[in-house]
Formats: sequence, structure tokens, C-alpha cells
Amino acid sequence: MLQQTQASRVLPIYGRFLSRFPTPARCASSTVADVVDAWSGLGYNRRALHLHRAATAIVEHHGGVVPADLDQLRTLPGVGQYTARAVMAFAFEADVAVVDTNVARTLARVSGVALTTRAVQASADAVAPKGLGWSWNQAMLDLGASCCRARQPRCDACPLAACCRWRAGGRADPDPARRSALVSGGQSSFAGSDRQGRGRLIAALRAGSVAVADAARASGWPDDPGRAEQVVAALEREGLLVRGDGELRLPGQRYESAHAVHEHVGGRRDDDAPLPADAWPHDRQRRLDLTGEEVAV
Ligand code: SF4
Repeated sequence: MLQQTQASRVLPIYGRFLSRFPTPARCASSTVADVVDAWSGLGYNRRALHLHRAATAIVEHHGGVVPADLDQLRTLPGVGQYTARAVMAFAFEADVAVVDTNVARTLARVSGVALTTRAVQASADAVAPKGLGWSWNQAMLDLGASCCRARQPRCDACPLAACCRWRAGGRADPDPARRSALVSGGQSSFAGSDRQGRGRLIAALRAGSVAVADAARASGWPDDPGRAEQVVAALEREGLLVRGDGELRLPGQRYESAHAVHEHVGGRRDDDAPLPADAWPHDRQRRLDLTGEEVAV
């Protein structure tokens, strides 16, 4: 949740999410639609999909217990070096160094040169003290976020000031962090982006199915159905939606017809009988106006 999303935004959703999915098994036995629904407000819904797939893998291959092993964590869907190390450090208090964009920026500046991925990780590992992995990583993440900021670093308040080579050189251009690996260049503008259209469409789908013909309107691009179709196709490829019978749905999303409850799994209903025209219990227009969640996916 904390990948590319601020902690203040994550906090209230995190608690609700854990109440709903307290264990990997509960998450794995839920549908993608349920998990994406609980993810509402966080954006970047692909992370919800990855979390669901990771929970499934944990149940299938690790007895439902999150493995306390860096290499095994790396085999889980959506888990890269940063996430695996963060889980090891903060869940298992292991002595591994966590490198996010803030830490990478700090280490490049202290070194005075742009660092490769391997060099920045080696540099982080070299300074992490034994037995203090949990608190050390908290401190490093906070230092980069609050002190060694991308713009206007607060060198006067920095505990690393005495050993910082970039500062010693008068913070000369170019900033070594700018060309360093693992340092994010910042997010592109959200307004008008595909991410915004994806967010709107997923928000509409959380409330129920959307007719394929209404996808452009639900995405916020009523005059650009071609762009909406590209977004639909991308979400479908990624596994975030399924289409069938002229409708788009979140995978596993349940809906009620006048006679039965069907479930979409991998784009197919259990029962392939055509849906009655009055099968949809929702007000479709209201759902298409659900554009309140202006967050990316
Ligand atoms: S002294 Fe300044 S540039 Fe160097 S690590 Fe601290 S805040 Fe960053």
C-alpha cells in the first residue's frame, strides 16, 4: 500500500483492509473484485491484484504463512527487491537494508556520485548496523523523506551532514541523485492521463458491471471511445477486469439476476444462459457517475 502512496492516505484503509482480510488465506479465498473493492481510495489497483495473487501463492506454496526468507518472498507476484526487504526488516526484524527512492537519493548524495542499482544496495547494506535492522530502516526512510528531500534538502538539520560529499562540494550541479538508480523522477501529471481514466473505470466497476458501450463515458472520455478501449484492453490483459455478454466486470464480481446468482471467473459465467434484461439490480446511470475516486490505477 505504501508503494507510491502517502502513509496518511494509507492508514485508515489499512485498518479496514486487515479487518476484512486478516490472513493470506482469507484474502486468497476472496475474489479479485473483493480485494479491489477494499483497495478503494489507494489507487494503483494493480497492487491489489498482485496482493491477491501473492496471498494465493502463500496459501498454495507456503502453508498460508508469509515466508521469512528474502529469496522466497521474491518469488511472490508483485514482490520485488524493495518490498521483500521491507517485509524482512519490518515484519521479521531482519538485518537487511531497505532502499526506496528516499534512501537511494540520500546515499547518492552522501557518496557524491550517481550510483548503480547494485552500488546503492551495496552501500545501504554496508552501513546497516547488526541487530538494528527495524529501527535503522525506519530512520533511513524518514531521513530521506523529511531531511534529504528531493528539492531543498535540509542539510543544516541532517545528522549525515559531516560525512556528506555532495554537501562538502557545495551541492554543485548536477545533483548525483538525479542520475542515480532507484531514485524516482516523480509522478507524471495525473489529470488527463490514462491513469485517471483507469481510476474512473475501476471506480464505476466497483459498484457493478459497466456495459462495454458505456466504457468511454465511465472512463471520463465520452468522445474518445478508442482511448477508452485501449484502457479496457490493458486492464483486461493485466487481469483487473473481464468482459462478457457486452459487459465489463471486476474478476469474480458477483451479480444477481432475477433467477440466480452468477459468478464471473476468468471472463466466463458458471451458467452461460443469457441474462434477462432486468438482471441488473443497480442504477446504471448512477454508477457511471461514480467518478469521485480520482486516483490512479
Ligand atoms: S547533508 Fe544534505 S544532501 Fe547530504 S544527506 Fe544530509 S540532507 Fe542530504
